[in-house]
Amino acid sequence: AWIGLGSNLDDPVAQLERAFIALGELPDTRLYLRSSLYRNPPMGPQDQPDFVNAVAGLLTRLPVRELLDALQAVERAAGRDRAQSQRWGPRPLDLDILCFGQLRIEEPGLHLPHPGIAERNFVLLPLLELAPGLQIPGLAPLLGLVARLGDGGLEPLE
Ligand code: ATP
Ligand code: CA
Ligand code: CA
Repeated sequence: AWIGLGSNLDDPVAQLERAFIALGELPDTRLYLRSSLYRNPPMGPQDQPDFVNAVAGLLTRLPVRELLDALQAVERAAGRDRAQSQRWGPRPLDLDILCFGQLRIEEPGLHLPHPGIAERNFVLLPLLELAPGLQIPGLAPLLGLVARLGDGGLEPLE
């Protein structure tokens, strides 16, 4: 599974560092790749801090629904309150399943591959670091997707 990580509240760099550790501690799961961190202007409402984004590659035996539940538990542990949050608003931690093997799912609460991957440079560029040959089910090869996008203000963090 490929996981997109994002944060723009409560020390985003520390949030992502803790999130990588939490991903590696999920049951039946190994964190086997982590991208570098990128600073990125917010998507949606502009009156919020920049995001820090990254991608993780997991080897997991968890069924995908259990993985989603576990990721939401990690988000809550980071202080995320879904009741309060506006769409694409500020949050201490966001963990999206970008894709899960070759699975294609369109169900309430779970879309795979994650919609929007093809338009999001803060997903595509970290993925490119980790898996330049990746073929996301139903999409063009990663290299082709990246070639269509500018960097859109994405900056590598030291
Ligand atoms: P976006 O999904 O456009 O990046 P977001 O991350 O801000 O927006 P959230 O509020 O975090 O959206 O999530 C809304 C719902 O999306 C979650 O409750 C979850 O059930 C659902 N969802 C559907 N597909 C996925 C997926 N592939 N990974 C994570 N959540 C998903
Ligand atoms: Ca998201
Ligand atoms: Ca999300």
